[in-house]
Amino acid sequence: MNKKIIILGSTGSIGTSTLNVIKNDKKSFDVILLTANNNYKKLVQQAKFFKAKNVLIKNKKFYNTVKKLLKNKKTKIFSGDVPLNKIIKSKVDYTISAIVGLAGLQPTIDAIKISNTVAIANKETIICGWDILNRYIKKFKTNVVPVDSEHFSIRELTKNVKNNDIDEIIITASGGPFLNTPLRMLKNVKPKEAIKHPKWKMGKKISVDSANLINKVFEVIEAYKLFNFDKKKYKVIIHPQSYVHSIIRFKNGLTKMILYNADMKIPISNILYDNKNIYLNSKSINSKSLNKISFQNVDTKKFPSILLIEKCLNMGLSAPIIINASNEVLVKLFLEEKIKFLDIVNTINKIFRDKEFKKYAKRKPNSVKNIISIDNWARLKTINMCTL
Ligand code: NDP
Repeated sequence: MNKKIIILGSTGSIGTSTLNVIKNDKKSFDVILLTANNNYKKLVQQAKFFKAKNVLIKNKKFYNTVKKLLKNKKTKIFSGDVPLNKIIKSKVDYTISAIVGLAGLQPTIDAIKISNTVAIANKETIICGWDILNRYIKKFKTNVVPVDSEHFSIRELTKNVKNNDIDEIIITASGGPFLNTPLRMLKNVKPKEAIKHPKWKMGKKISVDSANLINKVFEVIEAYKLFNFDKKKYKVIIHPQSYVHSIIRFKNGLTKMILYNADMKIPISNILYDNKNIYLNSKSINSKSLNKISFQNVDTKKFPSILLIEKCLNMGLSAPIIINASNEVLVKLFLEEKIKFLDIVNTINKIFRDKEFKKYAKRKPNSVKNIISIDNWARLKTINMCTL
């Protein structure tokens, strides 16, 4: 039987990598739904190539164009905020949740209700909405697997492992494009330099998050939510080659890690094929690469975002929602060249010091409505801070 698959955010970097995986084995998959926000051209191309049963273009402006371009095809076309259960009537095997930002929260909740397995790349959804996701995961008995390379590795390394077995969980960071840039030069870096990641090909938002290492703040929170190991056990270190994605130091004296090349097709295909019989169109690590492997501590003067980890984990259940919302706004402003690179983390620090911060950070993020209201407060506050 073919595997039925939905890809939320199919036109993005993770969405495209997923389609590149299934392209090699097209006959084994039925593409049930592909979604995009604005990129209707790519969505239509993908729909034609994979004979998608349904497509959803979020921006209603493009609905008629998509309809015209897919005329004579069997693909059904939807637009706007349509709940997934209005489009899909029977369970699917896999959903890849790869929308960027909090916009992915509601579609991911919907996907949990109608999928056997949901592979989540959309880390913003996990860090802001895990308690809600978890309720639905339990209710619908959905298998949820992280796609993010660090979390995919932690999951592989900690199957049947208890909190008490672990001394330390190390999440690695490549250090991004500015690892070797002097601090004084960071003031004037441009968006095109920030999104030029040396190891990974990713969407613009996560590329900026990787350039100032705030991505690691999100990843520690993401890991803490997903695996429920003690938050004090997490550490971030720099590993410029990006072969090792996480390291687990066990109490029994063993330290384990998994190595693989910086290619998201590797975790994605392992998820879709349950780690076996994979046709991998990706380079594996050879012995030459192992000669070059190195690790170093994070320079927190240069990357002060790392100091936000402790604050985020200890200043209230909704602190991650605030930092995420503020960061989404700031990254957009930086990409539009309206603020400077260092303003991103500086402004987030100001938000933490705001007199209203505690009130919002302490709220319980137990409904989508609550999350949106905290998110809205943080977005507005951030915009105000940047335009003052
Ligand atoms: P991209 O920016 O490349 O793609 C984002 C996708 O989401 C696109 O399909 C985009 O559509 C769609 N989208 C954007 N905004 C909205 C919206 N408001 N509503 C609905 N759909 C929307 O991002 P990535 O693929 O790089 O990342 C996706 C997620 O995966 C992020 O959360 C990221 O942190 C995470 N991740 C990514 C990794 C990577 O290697 N890229 C690695 C690990 C995690 P359109 O094309 O029309 O704009």
